[in-house]
Amino acid sequence: MVVTDIRQQFPILGRTVKGKPLVYFDNAATSQKPQSVIDALSHYYAHYNANIHRGIHTLAEEATHAYEAARFAVQEFIGAAEVEEIIFTRGTTEGINLVAYTWGRQNIAAGDEIIISGMEHHSNIVPWQIVCEEKNAILKVIPVKDNGELDMDAYKSLLSSKTKLVSIVQVSNSLGTVNPVKEMIGAAHEVGAKVLVDGAQSAVHLDIDVQDMDCDFFAFSGHKVYGPTGIGALYGKKELLENMPVFQGGGEMIREVTFEKTTYNDLPYKYEAGTPNIADTIALKTALDFIKDTGKESIRKHEAELLAYATAQLQAIPGLTIIGQAGNKVSLVSFVIDGVHPQDMGVLLDNMGIAVRTGHHCTQPLMKRFGIPGTIRASFAVYNQKEEIDVLIAGLHKAIKMLT
Ligand code: PMP
Repeated sequence: MVVTDIRQQFPILGRTVKGKPLVYFDNAATSQKPQSVIDALSHYYAHYNANIHRGIHTLAEEATHAYEAARFAVQEFIGAAEVEEIIFTRGTTEGINLVAYTWGRQNIAAGDEIIISGMEHHSNIVPWQIVCEEKNAILKVIPVKDNGELDMDAYKSLLSSKTKLVSIVQVSNSLGTVNPVKEMIGAAHEVGAKVLVDGAQSAVHLDIDVQDMDCDFFAFSGHKVYGPTGIGALYGKKELLENMPVFQGGGEMIREVTFEKTTYNDLPYKYEAGTPNIADTIALKTALDFIKDTGKESIRKHEAELLAYATAQLQAIPGLTIIGQAGNKVSLVSFVIDGVHPQDMGVLLDNMGIAVRTGHHCTQPLMKRFGIPGTIRASFAVYNQKEEIDVLIAGLHKAIKMLT
């Protein structure tokens, strides 16, 4: 994999910010898009824009074909057994909410327990709090250890016959920690609980095989895998999806409507009410093709080098502490600096053309756990280079001098 060739495919990387070449290290928030994805969007609108499924004209057939081809691409990307198990959503948040509102409402009763972890994104906390409040169920939280790993002994002791669901993040967006989800799923299944895996951060870095993992649900977002915003997918085991109540009502999701009674469509359409996000779905396939063509193994190797390099360079800065030093991490570093507010650092780095994320990263309870208001987070993607990390390190030195 030649990074300079990869960079050529991402037009945005050629721009400047505040007169400096852009250094984009906010990939965990959203990744940039290759030209092929941008072209797929405009090609759809310029050549075969039409509503899908019901049309018999050529444009509708072409659009339907491309939309359904994306479903096969997602199936392959995450290793699902059947294409009907792939539901298109707006993203991870909608996927988790879909499960909470359908499976959750049907299966959670008073006194039942839902287990999440202390490093969850708000998207994997709030939907379960809503279900727990409505059903008088109890939310339990797996503690996070000082090194940013989950306390697995505590997890096992939380599991019981009362546990109905474990909903966990595979990769922390704030720490980079890769959680041992396969082991966690096995333990949850032993007590009869179902497991949802939040794959928002993992899908772009790790090989995903939902069958091997044996998760019951898996949600991810297109915009973090080099695809467009507004599209994502939810995987669910067929048997579960078939038995869950519907989510939203409207067109597409019905078989027959009368004023007396409505019957519902087969999977996956049962959960896709209304005209879907056709263009972004089609372009999601192009993004997954980009990852496949580049090769996840090569991407991972490159990102691991960036992580090791950045970690070593950052650790050499006096007063800087990396939050989350798990043994198994993706290419993301979160850190705090003595006497420096993360937001001030973010502003100064932006003046140097460097885009990092600062704040709580939608994980307020995790920040509380570490006793900090937030972190400075640099997250790396396939197109980042060591030279850019050097720019960040030089920028940090300069900004620290100004701020302390
Ligand atoms: N979970 C995690 C771990 C995330 O990082 C994010 C996005 N920051 C989400 C869930 C929510 O994803 P989205 O906003 O794309 O729905």
